[in-house]
Amino acid sequence: MNLLEYQAKKIFEEAGIRVPPALAIHKSADIRKIREGIFPKKWKEKGYVIKAQVTAGGRGKAGGVKLVKTAKDAQAAAKAMLGSELKTAQTAGAGIKIESVLVADMVPIQKEFYMAIAVNRKKACPVMIVSRFGGMEIEEAAHKDPNALAEIEIDPWEGAPKHRLRRVAEENLQIPAAFIDDFIDLASKAAWLYIKRDLALLEINPMALTPEGFYAVDAKVSLEENALFRQPENQTLAKYMEKFLEPSEKKAKKIGVSFIPIGGTIGCLVNGAGLAMATMDLISLHGGTPANFLDVGGGAVVDQVRGAFELLFANKDSKAIFVNIFGGIMRCDIIAQALLEAHKNVPLKKPLVARLLGTNVDKAKEMLAQAKLPNVEVYSDLDTAVRRVCKVAANVNLNGSKN
Ligand code: GDP
Ligand code: MN
Repeated sequence: MNLLEYQAKKIFEEAGIRVPPALAIHKSADIRKIREGIFPKKWKEKGYVIKAQVTAGGRGKAGGVKLVKTAKDAQAAAKAMLGSELKTAQTAGAGIKIESVLVADMVPIQKEFYMAIAVNRKKACPVMIVSRFGGMEIEEAAHKDPNALAEIEIDPWEGAPKHRLRRVAEENLQIPAAFIDDFIDLASKAAWLYIKRDLALLEINPMALTPEGFYAVDAKVSLEENALFRQPENQTLAKYMEKFLEPSEKKAKKIGVSFIPIGGTIGCLVNGAGLAMATMDLISLHGGTPANFLDVGGGAVVDQVRGAFELLFANKDSKAIFVNIFGGIMRCDIIAQALLEAHKNVPLKKPLVARLLGTNVDKAKEMLAQAKLPNVEVYSDLDTAVRRVCKVAANVNLNGSKN
């Protein structure tokens, strides 16, 4: 569960990590609160940064971060941004509505560094990754000089080892001597925060060196959803963030299936995450585009699978539906029953190709044959079924009729 920048920065502040003074604005009536003198000015150079509060990254390059000189210009920029849509390299083609903006004091940046903390599953511990080159081109920076990057293993009981942080600060980051202790302080606090708050990701890019030391100029935090039960404050944040989910994602969350819309034309329903990904690969291989990832899991009950079918049937942008069930714990007849029940609630208007194999497959086929749905075809062989759905999807107009 990704947080918005202003929420992440609040958590940073509570942990003693320096962030630029800022004001979060959620409604246009509050834009007038942006005045000269709202921030206790430390810097000679005056300015404001207006930042779209969306969970996608890459805002800077997409016009979601504006640097201006005067409060008047800041008001105008906030006004233009609030309620508008932002498309970044990370929003998968669709724009996301900007529901709030963050107005921050512009800090003078001498150098931009990068820091992130995430779990390294091979090492079975959290690791901090830092880079001497931060900012908006971080992906390319890694190729420039491998020595500019370093990894620091974090001990879940002891935090980030200070001697290691010092060595990395000197050798990899080449931080000026006067600011090394300041970096160690920030990095230690970030490591503790990651552990104490059960985060899945903590990213500071840029981690900016200013004349006053290091500032987290940007902040990205993702909460570990499996640990929400022991983090009441994270629970509150997670609940709030649900309102930003797409209606289909909300419904999927409610029925308890993992569902990720990705914008293609073939809606997928599969049991098992690995099989779901393999299915999507196979669809792509045969020239189709999957509309979503959907894993109903092995132990799903009829209600869940019915809900999942309803999600797919209701998607206006998909042209066909592909069902891939390798029945083990999940019985094929449960899938058939769920499909027929879903059709009663949200009529199936597009072609559906199913590959069914395994437990109770004959019963399932019989149920579907008896129901005589015009648009349903059942296969046992996966490759044949995938080729078929790609062909069918290619021949459907978006209004659902066949050419
Ligand atoms: P992102 O593009 O979504 O990662 O947004 P960021 O918050 O990282 O901002 C993008 C870029 O804007 C940063 O890399 C900085 O170069 C610049 N920027 C953001 N805030 C400030 C600031 O307070 N001072 C200065 N000088 N530059 C800033
Ligand atoms: Mn950034």
